[in-house]
Amino acid sequence: MDIIESVREMKRIAAAAREAGRRISFVPTMGFLHEGHASLMREGRRRGDLLVVSIFVNPTQFGAGEDFEAYPRDLARDTAVALESGADVLFVPKASEMYPAGFQTWVNVETVSLPMCGASRPGHFRGVTTVVAKLFNIVRPTAALFGEKDYQQLAVIRRMVADLDMEVEVVGMPTVREADGLALSSRNSYLSPDERRSALCLSRALAAACARYRTGERSVARLREEVMAIILKEPKADIDYVEFRDGDTLEEVENADGRTVLALAVRIGRTRLIDNTMIGRGFTWNERC
Ligand code: AMP
Repeated sequence: MDIIESVREMKRIAAAAREAGRRISFVPTMGFLHEGHASLMREGRRRGDLLVVSIFVNPTQFGAGEDFEAYPRDLARDTAVALESGADVLFVPKASEMYPAGFQTWVNVETVSLPMCGASRPGHFRGVTTVVAKLFNIVRPTAALFGEKDYQQLAVIRRMVADLDMEVEVVGMPTVREADGLALSSRNSYLSPDERRSALCLSRALAAACARYRTGERSVARLREEVMAIILKEPKADIDYVEFRDGDTLEEVENADGRTVLALAVRIGRTRLIDNTMIGRGFTWNERC
């Protein structure tokens, strides 16, 4: 596995692969890799001939007062995980090369970026789409893999790729969870053992809503009540949003159906966690529902 810092060198390797007729799979990440990232890499490995994984804690997607400085970093461990998961190239650009002096061009997806995390974190998706567009231009992958864990991010990137005629297949991958339901996230490392227990209210609430949906409940107002009640029982939990939206457009819905995504953002202590599920798909990480 090659570890590449230079944009120019990354472009050269990717261009050579393309010229040789190799399909490039790409997994962009912010590092502190876990089994969720590894599942994307394994699928990328399966779909392509050259697997490129990037690690870049992108400063432009963090707001003032957010956790950019504190965001966990461990390149030695990440290198081992990427290697084990089949990466050929680990691309770790420096911020000074991604955003050199004079940088002033932004990619902004409009409507889909506005609600949910876009409302709580102004400018966040502008940072995401700009860096992903840059990474796509550098790597020019055949396929790029993203987790459904960041559901809105995936919707925003699909929109960007369609709107800007980018020639990349965007592949969404299911959320990988711990045995007790907690969605894997680099930010879980912020949680104390007590907070870790409280954080289970997210997956518990999703599971309960899915179970209610399965018994025939379609009213978003009632499904929301159920979700809120479960989260509000956790003293350490502070709800940022509970949203029921169309899975593609992210427009609000009043009645849930098979296309409805239930998305949550909840602060546990000082850690903001997100999770979601397609409500009709059921929640199958264990036998609970
Ligand atoms: P991040 O490093 O948090 O920016 O995530 C990089 C990619 O991994 C994104 O496409 C995420 O959606 C995806 N990802 C993060 N957590 C998970 C998870 N638990 N299961 C599947 N994919 C994930």
